[in-house]
Amino acid sequence: MKKKLAIIGAGIAGLTLANLMKKKSDHEFMLYEKQESLSLDEGYGIQLSTNSIKILNEIGFGKISNERIFHPTGVDFYNIKNKKICDLDLTQFNTDVIKYTTLQRSTLIEFLKDDVYTQHLRFGKKIKEVSELKGKVLIKFDDNTNDLVDIVVGADGIFSNTRSFFEKKKNEPKFKKAIAIRTIIKSKSELNISEEKISIIMGKNCHLVIYPVNRNKDLNLICIIRDKKYNPDNIKSLVEKVIRQNSNFEKVFENDLKSWPLYFTSQILPSTNNKVFYIGDAFNGFLPTLAQGAGQSIESAFELFNLVKEESPDIQKIYFQERLKRAKIVRKRSNFNFIAFHFSSPILQAIRNFFMKFLIKRKSFINSYLGTVYKN
Ligand SMILES: Cc1cc2nc3c(=O)[nH]c(=O)nc-3n(C[C@H](O)[C@H](O)[C@H](O)COP(=O)(O)OP(=O)(O)OC[C@H]3O[C@@H](n4cnc5c(N)ncnc54)[C@H](O)[C@@H]3O)c2cc1C
Repeated sequence: MKKKLAIIGAGIAGLTLANLMKKKSDHEFMLYEKQESLSLDEGYGIQLSTNSIKILNEIGFGKISNERIFHPTGVDFYNIKNKKICDLDLTQFNTDVIKYTTLQRSTLIEFLKDDVYTQHLRFGKKIKEVSELKGKVLIKFDDNTNDLVDIVVGADGIFSNTRSFFEKKKNEPKFKKAIAIRTIIKSKSELNISEEKISIIMGKNCHLVIYPVNRNKDLNLICIIRDKKYNPDNIKSLVEKVIRQNSNFEKVFENDLKSWPLYFTSQILPSTNNKVFYIGDAFNGFLPTLAQGAGQSIESAFELFNLVKEESPDIQKIYFQERLKRAKIVRKRSNFNFIAFHFSSPILQAIRNFFMKFLIKRKSFINSYLGTVYKN
């Protein structure tokens, strides 16, 4: 039976679900975004592992020009002095058409918006009130418009406002006492890294991730630094903590810096309303240390789409159980990486490096640690 959906939030999760609905079903849907436009901020890079590329291929990801994406062949791990520890071959997870991909977030959003922008996306929409009416959900927006739908999908990010309308139990995201700083570097000359790969440089209470985001090899740099408080006016002194460990980073941080505090969802809670679902960061916000936030947003949209399309009975229960299983795997590894990437003690760093060198060559370990995430 044809259903009507309201998708709240036009980020990666909401837009992916909208594309799947548009291209592969007859269901009616509308995307409601609180901002007045889509954020197409250049630069911010996204890594998409094969689990998400496989899904994006179903909605025409292949049509993006090769100039605007990159396929890194591996990950090089370094200590903060830029001395290589070991490397991981990413091509082992690839097939001819499903390849680990890096790109600018704006490139992904532009692709996802293309087919839904004019007919299925409404801006400046924030929920004011919700109620049940004839077995459906009536949503009233604060501009006095409304929509009566069969299914509501909360895709409004880690601070999901949709949850506050439907859930009694609060699930406030927690500050991880760490700050993310992002910049684009045009030249890697100060650093001894490969432009074909993702570089992870691990220091005391910080780590840096650098990777190309297009054929031009513009390099996206994300630096995660542990700090108890977030003060956007204090970023220069935060960056000093990294420069003190290796002065070569001084030039790297001369460019325009953007920063934001890192949050994570502490509990994974089910929806208490059979007609309401959460996808992406609204379901669970991960730490970025496995680079799976966007990937899991895409996966969760795909899982929900399939259940709605197949008209599965008990959608709510199946969706939550399956999503919970996946989220737990990703969360465990993201949290573990967060600790391992930031050891401050030289002894712990040496032990970590020893185990990394040993384990990264073990196919069985890599298959269970990453294969289970990448080969969904
Ligand atoms: C430092 C860092 C690096 C990262 N790197 C990677 C990476 O390499 N690979 C990766 O896979 N992931 C990465 N991520 C994570 C990834 O960016 C997010 O997990 C992903 O973007 C979440 O998508 P989303 O659609 O669920 O939420 P969001 O992107 O937060 O989108 C939510 C949308 O909902 C809208 N909205 C909010 N409230 C309302 C409301 N009340 N009503 C209507 N609309 C609303 C917002 O304006 C927004 O458009 C990284 C995250 C960080 C912090």
